[in-house]
Amino acid sequence: MQSNSINKFFSVGLEDVDPAVSAAVDNEVRRQTDGLELIASENFVSEAVLQAAGTVFTNKYAEGYPAKRYYGGCEFADVVENLAIDRAKAIFGAEHANVQPHSGAQANMAVLMTALDHGDTILGMRLSHGGHLTHGHPLNFSGINYKVADYGVNKDTEQIDYDELQKIAEESRPKLLICGASAYPRTIDFARIGEIARSVGAKVMADMAHIAGLVATGLHPSPVPHCEFVTTTTHKTLRGPRGGLILCREEFAADINRNVFPGVQGGPLIHIIAAKAVAFGEALRDDFKSYQQQVINNAKVLADTLSDAGLRIISGGTDNHLLLVDVFMDGKGITGKAAEKALGDVHITVNKNTIPFDTQKPFVASGIRLGTPALTTRGMKEAEMSAIGAMIASIIHEPESEEAKAKVKQGVAEITAKFPMYPGRLKAKREESISAT
Ligand SMILES: *Cc1c(COP(=O)(O)O)cnc(C)c1O
Repeated sequence: MQSNSINKFFSVGLEDVDPAVSAAVDNEVRRQTDGLELIASENFVSEAVLQAAGTVFTNKYAEGYPAKRYYGGCEFADVVENLAIDRAKAIFGAEHANVQPHSGAQANMAVLMTALDHGDTILGMRLSHGGHLTHGHPLNFSGINYKVADYGVNKDTEQIDYDELQKIAEESRPKLLICGASAYPRTIDFARIGEIARSVGAKVMADMAHIAGLVATGLHPSPVPHCEFVTTTTHKTLRGPRGGLILCREEFAADINRNVFPGVQGGPLIHIIAAKAVAFGEALRDDFKSYQQQVINNAKVLADTLSDAGLRIISGGTDNHLLLVDVFMDGKGITGKAAEKALGDVHITVNKNTIPFDTQKPFVASGIRLGTPALTTRGMKEAEMSAIGAMIASIIHEPESEEAKAKVKQGVAEITAKFPMYPGRLKAKREESISAT
């Protein structure tokens, strides 16, 4: 009997156990490092957050909440969940936080179950004007289970028209008004939306998934004082692991907790909650505010550069971390789909996006959405943003030019080489991992 030799199961690493998966991971590290990531909903987490997400907490069942679990052995799960809860409340000044939602969509589902009965009316922002699937899209649970009214942006300003929203709220009489967006470059007036909701007897859910990092640092007005429920993802500007978070007033705490578990989820992902705790700790530090300020500054420079190069910026600019660019310009340019492809070919990652009142189908779209959170995390500033803006414009103006492509590829390689990421994360030798794909 060998009592003290370690079972290889616990000691042999991924690169030896599964070269195929290991190579894919390595190639993804390289893809993220060697390209320019401009998808507005993405970010790069710290090595500390990555480590917390990769811990033995993945083994633990902890259905229930701290000190009220259905399983034994939850004392350390309680520690990390309590840390995550306390830090989330401190960041946002909220009375109650539920850190268990596996995603933003599930956070929203738990709130809709709390605020509504089947068949009640919700009023949410139109997807094609910047809203989210979970705010009432016909193919989503929110559009399937509830009656939906919607609002959009004004055709001239391309910004939310609050007087129009007041009118639509009076006509549709929603039980829940949903605000927040996935592709809206301007400040959202949560105070005004709160007033509109109260004037028609509705509650409000603010889904701040995209802007949570800005809200955390006071760089976007907070929805917390004005809205019964606030939801967010933790992986966008907030720069944590993939996941969701619900904030609410104490009066709704028990209902929210019950609707997350057992309402829409089973056991919480404690390893991810540990990583949320780490990310929330990072968000409470002073340097998180300077990071978020740089995200905004970078978005402005990118918007100005593209606009100077003759592209149309939706709503004329940006107040936050993202911008929407009309690349089609009524047929004078190329479609969003073509722009996404052409930029992807030169290692600039963006997503096509509909623009308000788009004439193209969603899968083609007239626009692209650009965000600066990820590149700002790498340390890039105004100088890099104007260089990147010029490269994007040159590709959109000349998508077929091999010369432009070669030049931009070279530019991307030069910029990314100056901002390395994740030292030590590459496991296999470069030749091996490339040949394995
Ligand atoms: C990203 C996003 C979500 C959904 O997040 P998932 O984690 O992908 O489910 C919900 N609402 C808004 C406004 C978002 O931008």
